[in-house]
Amino acid sequence: MRPDILHKLFAPVTSLSGVGPKQDKLLRFLLSHDETPRLVDLLLHLPASVIDRRARPKIRDVVPGSVVTLEVTIDRHRPTPPGRSRVPYLVYASDDTGDVVLTYFRAKADYVEKLLPVGEKRYVSGTAQMYDGTLQMTHPDRVVSEADLAKLSLIEPVYPLTEGLALGSLRRAIAQALLRLPAMPEWISEEVLRRCKFPAWSEALHRVHEPRELTDVLPQQRYWSRLAFDELLAGQLALALVRAQLRRPAGARHTGDGHLRRKVIDGLPYALTKSQQDAAAAIADDLQKPLRMLRLLQGDVGSGKTVVALLAAAAVAEAGKQAAIMAPTEILARQHIKTITPLAERAGIRVAILTGREKGKERRAILSKLEAGELDLLVGTHALIQDDVVFKALALAVVDEQHRFGVRERLALTQKGEAVDVLVLSATPIPRTLVLTYFGDMDISELREKPAGRQPIDTRAVPANRLNEVIDAVGRAIKAKRRVYWICPLVEESDKIDNLIDAEQRFAGLQKRFGDHVGLVHGKLKGAEKDQAMMQFASGEISVLVATTVVEVGVDVPAASVMVIENAERFGLAQLHQLRGRIGRGSEASTCILLYREPLSEMSKARLSVIRETTDGFRIAEEDLRLRGEGDVLGTRQSGLPGFRIARAEFHAQLIAQARDEALRIMKDNPRLTGMHGEALRALLYLFERDEAIPLLTAG
Ligand code: ADP
Ligand code: MG
Repeated sequence: MRPDILHKLFAPVTSLSGVGPKQDKLLRFLLSHDETPRLVDLLLHLPASVIDRRARPKIRDVVPGSVVTLEVTIDRHRPTPPGRSRVPYLVYASDDTGDVVLTYFRAKADYVEKLLPVGEKRYVSGTAQMYDGTLQMTHPDRVVSEADLAKLSLIEPVYPLTEGLALGSLRRAIAQALLRLPAMPEWISEEVLRRCKFPAWSEALHRVHEPRELTDVLPQQRYWSRLAFDELLAGQLALALVRAQLRRPAGARHTGDGHLRRKVIDGLPYALTKSQQDAAAAIADDLQKPLRMLRLLQGDVGSGKTVVALLAAAAVAEAGKQAAIMAPTEILARQHIKTITPLAERAGIRVAILTGREKGKERRAILSKLEAGELDLLVGTHALIQDDVVFKALALAVVDEQHRFGVRERLALTQKGEAVDVLVLSATPIPRTLVLTYFGDMDISELREKPAGRQPIDTRAVPANRLNEVIDAVGRAIKAKRRVYWICPLVEESDKIDNLIDAEQRFAGLQKRFGDHVGLVHGKLKGAEKDQAMMQFASGEISVLVATTVVEVGVDVPAASVMVIENAERFGLAQLHQLRGRIGRGSEASTCILLYREPLSEMSKARLSVIRETTDGFRIAEEDLRLRGEGDVLGTRQSGLPGFRIARAEFHAQLIAQARDEALRIMKDNPRLTGMHGEALRALLYLFERDEAIPLLTAG
């Protein structure tokens, strides 16, 4: 139940005046909500920059090109002559040092007459420009009378927008939302407030939306930082609640004598890398301790996490217990089972797969074996957490790409057994500070080396005007029986980023040239269609797979050795790295071509050069963080932490640890979140939609 005090903040934006169905749609898009956003979503949409209107020079002293606020007297109007609508409506104004012309294109005459009455004094604010030797201001942003001068905000926030949404209307909506801000109890402890010099929550919101100084909207300053801390604290507290719940029933010892693990290892066609061995040993150690395991296994795509997970499952099977591996997509689950089955069978480990596709009799057979203990390992998707999936003795839950799962899903799986040990796999190497953000306190194993025998990938950046040469090269690759991924950023033009190439269009173009060699896979295809295209590509039936970023995660086609990424400058470093990880997995030398459009921004240039220089995911993650920190301070929102609206890795890294410490202190002093402070913390969890963890407080 959401605390009453939050009701006002969770009112739909359509309850604001001036926000109708059209604005609703735009705001959904902007705030990436499926449903009508709430006032709180607006309030947490923070400015990207500000317009400074404080310069109030005399006309003589205006620097052309700058934003100024001028105090002028209106001298005369020269309306647009009838029938010549292209000629602007001019308003001549002056002060005691000179003249300025206020210019309006296609303006309604009566509107301008009322706005700027002759003989009166007005304050006009906007960008002043020299035109034909006179100072002009075209469409002043603001015009106010002396009486209203106090209402003119001299520092105005500028927000990230979406096409069709006017800055003014977003500002008005946010201003209204601010008026409805309820008085909230303080959830940050006095000690932290004092140490970090944080303002109160409402003061922080007011100051970022109604800045009084230019610095008020900077992420590293105290107002934004306070809000970032709130967001991080909510995240850390939710993780801590889950962790406390997971840790509570002392784990059982879940490991056997090693005979199955030995059989798996003996059956491998390769030797485990040193880091795979270390990870497997650390896991075995965890499994054997009475405390529950909570371990994160990080490693680039292709670093060999699956076999480590299989070894963990083998250890559990040796003890007569069961394991589950849950993947976020059907494709990934099938990938795992494909890797695992031959190795498991040789060792005598009984495995099955359960996804949305196993139905009816087949599904019932799997479930009854599972319940009878005739399966040692079940691999699957969300289907694993359905109510009727009953394990005889689940002891290990392996969650692949866990950040794609919610708290509830993770818990649901671990609740299918007693004191289930948890192993999380992540193919997105992230620096340690950020591990804390997403996973809370976990033990970490990293697979840093690539399995032996991998060929290096030759990565090149090529400007888009050499597209034809690249297509020729693809033709040669097809002749040489190589397999080529062609990555396009978007499926349709629904995103309205007009210079992105439509995958369909590229597919059509390549198919015209190379015929049946070309296939297409994108996010709008059904699961089965997608799998079919992937399968044809894996089997070599098609040589070129045109794809949107659906191939990003996990799919293994070792024979693929060429990748072309269009509009590479638009992708983030992590994403480029993930994509490129699809090639260089076989014995063949691979090539990655980054097609980019000119001109490149400094940031894109730097990103492309990092990706050309290294294939080490951990290094790329660190460079990514560094580059973002060096980027435009008030740049795009792209540099936010995924899943976070306010906190930004490059500015708030040190707050992450502090939020963690605060969450741990709360768990120690007030683990059930009772009393006034507890109530305040619950409100915080709701505010940032981390309330999934709240039912745990009553779960016992
Ligand atoms: P990840 O899940 O980390 O992306 P996988 O576990 O799918 O990677 O492994 C990728 C490929 O590497 C698989 O085909 C697997 O058989 C192979 N592989 C795993 N470990 C090694 C190793 N030590 N040496 C050689 N090949 C390996
Ligand atoms: Mg994997």
